[in-house]
Amino acid sequence: MRADREARLGLYLCLFIAAEAKKIERIGSGVIGIDPGFANLLTTSQGEVIEHPRELEGAKRRLAQAQRGHDVKLAARIQERIGNRRKDRNHKLSRRLVAENIVIYFSRDNLKGLAKRFGQSVASSGHAQLRGMLAYKSPTSGTRYVEVDAKFSTMTCSVCGARSGPRGLGMLAVRQWTCAECASFHNRDMNAALNTLKAGAGSALEGHAQV
Ligand SMILES: [Zn+2]
Repeated sequence: MRADREARLGLYLCLFIAAEAKKIERIGSGVIGIDPGFANLLTTSQGEVIEHPRELEGAKRRLAQAQRGHDVKLAARIQERIGNRRKDRNHKLSRRLVAENIVIYFSRDNLKGLAKRFGQSVASSGHAQLRGMLAYKSPTSGTRYVEVDAKFSTMTCSVCGARSGPRGLGMLAVRQWTCAECASFHNRDMNAALNTLKAGAGSALEGHAQV
């Protein structure tokens, strides 16, 4: 009987905690596009570059060592610590992005291909976790969060719409380029973020793209 009551109480508490979404204080009214990447964690259409956390590299090395030595307990502890730090960092980052912006367009382009080729590094950055956090935190401050299928966002010039930019995994190393059509100079990821913003805002990329 008592166990029953405790179980019910536990369930109630869990639901209560899950439903409690903290309101985020608004500090800006931006509208941004976000391009998740391999070279950097995120790049925004405003030119902000958020790098992959380097502090995890040391922990990853220690984890590999523990795994090679078959120290299961130590490996589990290190893994937990890496996970906690990533989560903490993603919480802070998502909270700030939601506080600063009233609309967030997040590109889904490229993620699959990149994850396949660079599985470890892309997955360890927690793009998926970050997207989840942005999605559930946005409503708490009235931010609109939209995931955009920004096709060709990397190869399309955000100024003239020509598909004159780097394409394919073979051109991942190209970080900056000049449009052959309109001579605009682009930072690869910021250009993709601008296209994500455009696509999200309803200006169809395909509409004015040239092949
Ligand atoms: Zn152009």
